[in-house]
Amino acid sequence: MPGPIGSQGGALLSTTLIRSGTLLCMDAAGTVATVDLLVRDDRIAAVGDRVPAALAQLPSGRPDRTIDASGAFVLPGLIHGHVHLCQTMFRGLAEQADLLHWLRESIWPFEAAHTEASLAASAQLGVAELVAGGVTCINDMGTVHHTEVIGEVLEASGLRAVFGKALMDQGEGVPAGLLESTDRAIASAVAVVDRFHGGASGRLSVSLAPRFILSCSHALWDEVRRVSTDRDLIVHTHLSENAGEGEAVQAAVADTATRYFSNRDVLGPRFVAAHGVWLEDDELNMLADADAVLVHCPSANFKLGSGMANVRAWKERGLRCGVGADGPPCNNRLDTFHEMSLAAKISRIVSPVRPLTAREVLELATCEGARALGLGDRVGTLEAGKQADIVVIDATALHQAPNAADDPYTTLVHASRATDVRVTMVAGRVLYENGSMTTLDPDRVRRDAEREARALRARAGKVKAT
Ligand SMILES: [Zn+2]
Repeated sequence: MPGPIGSQGGALLSTTLIRSGTLLCMDAAGTVATVDLLVRDDRIAAVGDRVPAALAQLPSGRPDRTIDASGAFVLPGLIHGHVHLCQTMFRGLAEQADLLHWLRESIWPFEAAHTEASLAASAQLGVAELVAGGVTCINDMGTVHHTEVIGEVLEASGLRAVFGKALMDQGEGVPAGLLESTDRAIASAVAVVDRFHGGASGRLSVSLAPRFILSCSHALWDEVRRVSTDRDLIVHTHLSENAGEGEAVQAAVADTATRYFSNRDVLGPRFVAAHGVWLEDDELNMLADADAVLVHCPSANFKLGSGMANVRAWKERGLRCGVGADGPPCNNRLDTFHEMSLAAKISRIVSPVRPLTAREVLELATCEGARALGLGDRVGTLEAGKQADIVVIDATALHQAPNAADDPYTTLVHASRATDVRVTMVAGRVLYENGSMTTLDPDRVRRDAEREARALRARAGKVKAT
C-alpha cells in the first residue's frame, strides 16, 4: 500500500512568523491588513500589533522560522465541505450527463471494485491535489468498504478532516458489492468512529454518511438518527441534487427528501447535506428551523446537468452553508478556486437582485465552511487562539495584475487559481510550500494512482481502449 514519506517531513515547528502578507482574517469585523502573524505550536499566537510582544516572550526573541508572505494574501485555510476521495481514481472515467446514470453505470461499479491499495492511492491523490490547492480541511463521504484506509491516509497526511463510511443498504442499480445489511452498515461505521473520531490530536472527526435517500432504508435512517444523537456525530448526505433523482425519491417515499427527513426526525444541527438544488421554500424553512447545513457544489451541479442552487435563498434563512467540489469525476478537479468562481457567477443568474458578494463566497470556503462542520470555534478565521490552519496565496501573477490588492476578495474569487498557493499549513505544520509537499511525494502519488487505476478499471470491466 502506498504510504507517506519522511516521518520527519513537515515536523511541527514551535514558532513560525508569517511576515508582511495581506491578511484576510475572515473575522466578523472583516479585517484586511498588511501585517505579520505569529504561529506557536498548533495555534495562532498573535496577529498584527500584538506580534512584537508575542515575539518578545519567546526565549530567543525570534521565531524558529519565518515565511515571507510579501506580495501574497494570507487567509484561513480553505475548507472543502463535500468531497469523495475514493472517486479521485475515476477522474475522466464517468462522463455521463445525468446523476443516476453516472452513479449506476460508472461510479458505483468503480467503488465496488476498490481494494485497500486502490482506495489508499485514490485518497492520497485527492489529498495531494487539495493540499497543493490551499485546502486545510475536508468533509469526505468515504465509501462502503475499507474506509479505515481513508482514515489512515488522512491521519498521515496532516490534513484536517471530517470523514465517514458511506452507508448503503438498498437501492436500484447498487452493485451487490456495495450493499450491506442495515446492522452491518451501522456496525462498521461505528467501528470507524471508535477508531478515528477525535484522533490525530483532534484533526480527525468521523461522521455518519448515509449516501442518499435512494440507497438507504427507513431502518437505516432511524439508526443514523439514533447513533448520531448518541455519539454527537455529523450526518453527511446528499439532498435534492437532481430533478430525476427527485422524481425517484417521490416514487420511493411519496414525498420529497427533506420532508421525509423532517418526518423521521433526521434533520438537526448535525445534518450536513450536499447540493440542495431543487429545494422548495417550505423545505428550506424546515432545514433552517432545524439549524441544518447545506453545501454548495456548483461545478458538479453543472457537469451532471443538475441545476443551479440558490445560495442567497439559503443565507436569507440563516442556514449555515459551505462549498465543495464533490467527487473528481464530476468537475473534473478538486479546486476550491474553481468552485468559488462558479458560485459567484451562478449567484448573479439565480439571484440577480442580490447576488453573493466575493467576500460572501470566500466565507463559504473559510469561516462559514468551518461553522457548517461545527468547527467554527477552532478554524475558519485568522484570530489568536484559533488553530493555525493558514494558506498563503501569491498575488503577483499576471492573471491577477494590475489591481490585485485593491479588492482581495474579488481577486481571490474571480482571478486566482489553485496554482497561486504558496503555502498550506494545518495546525502549525506546513504541508505544502512552493511546489513541495512534506507528508506526500507527488510523483509517487501519481505513479501509484496510475498503476492502481489501471488495475481498478480492469476489475470493474471498464478497461479503456488505448
Ligand atoms: Zn457527493
